[in-house]
Amino acid sequence: MSRCKILSNKFSRYGILFVVSAPSGAGKTTLCDALRQTPDFVYSVSCTTRPPRSGEVDGEDYRFLSRDDFLARVKAGEFLEHAKVHEHYYGTLRQPLIDNLKKGVDVLIDIDTQGAAGIRNCGDPFVRDALTDVFIMPPNLEELRRRLTKRRTETAQQIEARLKTAAREMKHWRDYRYTIISKSMEEDLQKFRQIMGAERILSRRLILQ
Ligand code: 5GP
Repeated sequence: MSRCKILSNKFSRYGILFVVSAPSGAGKTTLCDALRQTPDFVYSVSCTTRPPRSGEVDGEDYRFLSRDDFLARVKAGEFLEHAKVHEHYYGTLRQPLIDNLKKGVDVLIDIDTQGAAGIRNCGDPFVRDALTDVFIMPPNLEELRRRLTKRRTETAQQIEARLKTAAREMKHWRDYRYTIISKSMEEDLQKFRQIMGAERILSRRLILQ
């Protein structure tokens, strides 16, 4: 108990695992970048076998692993959840996450609906208790199309593929404890901060020494 976050001479708590999912174009990356400006949590860095894109930093954006290394870690049970997306593997390491939560450090994970389901259904009650999941819902597909077109990073064909994935992912909003209907980045950020604030004072999270 002495390792978790001390809130007063009477109360302490373990860390909260904030999982955020959103279809691409819903503003999740901008939101997470803004959240990282005031770091009162640690950001969970996923492992992947895909090669780094230009500008991506190993250990910051992802931990880039060889396929053999990744699969050996799967075999050793090191991942809390992992998935194959297109031809590459992605996964969340169990131990660093649990170490932080046990110390009372809050952790933010930015992951798709498949990964979120993997964490929600993981066999570890400590992780499930720590979990607070948030879905960022784009206002509608037309607005999402407008945002994706505006950022000019995808071809028309890629935009259509992303919209298809988005439509599929948007059906999962009810699986999440919170849904933020995306407006401006500032409004989304404010709502996310409100969720963080409320979750941090939930009675059920407090431990009486
Ligand atoms: P990208 O290669 O574009 O960075 O990510 C591709 C997909 O992998 C995205 O949908 C992203 O959310 C997902 N992803 C990233 N990290 C993880 C992870 O740790 N676990 C799972 N299951 N998916 C992940």
